[in-house]
Amino acid sequence: MFENQGMAVQNPIAAPILPASRFDHVKAALRQEAGDTAFRSWLAPLSFVSFTGSALEISAPTRFVRDWVKTHYSDRIRALWNQQGTPCLRVDCLVSAAPAQQKTVVSAFEEIPVANENSAETTDVLSSPLDPRFTFDNFVTGDSNELAFAAARRVSDSDSVQFNPLFIQGGVGLGKTHLLHAMAHEIRQRAPQRRVVYMSAERFMYTFVRALREKNTFSFKENFRSIDVLMIDDIQFICGKETTQQEFFHTFNALVDQGKQVILSADRNPAELDGIDERLRSRLGMGLVAGISAPDESLRLRILQSKCALLKREIPADVLAFLAAKIPASGRELEGALNRLVAHADLVGRSITKDTAAELLSDLLRASERRITVEDIQKRVAEHYGIRTADILSPRRARPVARPRQIAMYLSKALTQLSLPDIGRKFGGRDHTTIIHGVRRIEGLMNEDAALRDDVHLLRRMIAG
Ligand code: ADP
Ligand code: MG
Repeated sequence: MFENQGMAVQNPIAAPILPASRFDHVKAALRQEAGDTAFRSWLAPLSFVSFTGSALEISAPTRFVRDWVKTHYSDRIRALWNQQGTPCLRVDCLVSAAPAQQKTVVSAFEEIPVANENSAETTDVLSSPLDPRFTFDNFVTGDSNELAFAAARRVSDSDSVQFNPLFIQGGVGLGKTHLLHAMAHEIRQRAPQRRVVYMSAERFMYTFVRALREKNTFSFKENFRSIDVLMIDDIQFICGKETTQQEFFHTFNALVDQGKQVILSADRNPAELDGIDERLRSRLGMGLVAGISAPDESLRLRILQSKCALLKREIPADVLAFLAAKIPASGRELEGALNRLVAHADLVGRSITKDTAAELLSDLLRASERRITVEDIQKRVAEHYGIRTADILSPRRARPVARPRQIAMYLSKALTQLSLPDIGRKFGGRDHTTIIHGVRRIEGLMNEDAALRDDVHLLRRMIAG
């Protein structure tokens, strides 16, 4: 999404097109950028209303969609629109309740796949399907995830409520979803009478939004409050979404008060979640917060070995050791690297050597060899614009400082593995929403301002090599 691939499809010298089809072009480009899931949920339901020559008016089926589009996509919509002719200065999004448009959102919700039919486990209509491979047996432990693993086991092995909530915190790809699924598998098997519901925070939101729209909130509440074990993954997603958050808070309190187990995951601690109600924050921290940090080399090696065993593939030990040493990232990257090697081996019908691995993964290896730091980026950007690094960290908002700062934010997001809150901390303790704003701003400007785009590309090449 930060790469803006697919932007070249617009042809600025094409014959003038009708505003409505111009908006279709915008949607097509957004689909490329945002991906199908986000597109179906938030962008497909938008319709063109009018274009006055300065303001583009579009409509969304609900206030939720409108608010989401306003905060997340309006800059991009404007930039994409402006690439195709008469620019608009403003994008206004209205709420219209046309049934045809509502349907798109509802079907986005309904298209979420339902339970795996081969599974012997009881499933629940509310619950998202579980990955059968994400079990405790397949979870490899080491210093960085021991506590979270032990807590997850304890909660799953016990009939009484242990910690409420159990809050699993960790960066992308470190195994949060794996652990949550493992708990759900375990509890469903050990205690089939307990109603276990696992879902992403995003899905919680869809379900709730749909209930609101269909004026069904009563059955929504009934349905959620009869759950024995509620698991919500990536809870950071509902931060700042006030209505959803309140509903979550009520559901959460109702369950905890009835002695039901709540299990949550997020990419940061309750204390670091912002845009949430203080009471909710303090309740989130009341159980056990168990962090998962990045795996060290020996754990990475064992994760790779376990993934190979699951894939029923023999990969030479020296190749695995090489990967573990050279890809110092999360389970997700390791798995991606392994899948690439396996696909190649299948294709050429030969087993993999260290040399082939090095060649096939050269992009990943190069990126990790030259671990780029936010400090490097800030220094290079400051030099390029003739300002001081201290200016980048400072609160000054003057454009000669603010623009380079945003460029440094954009490059930090693009070139490092750090989370937005981590990047924020390295920019003089700024909030992660400021970083998102900076990144989006630069993405938008790169489409409008060729000089700035060239600058960013040049800096990127200088820093990333
Ligand atoms: P998260 O939800 O924290 O972003 P996931 O649970 O989706 O991460 O993990 C990403 C991938 O890495 C999955 O394939 C998962 O099985 C694997 N993985 C992460 N940690 C471990 C681990 N300790 N043992 C085995 N596999 C792991
Ligand atoms: Mg996850």
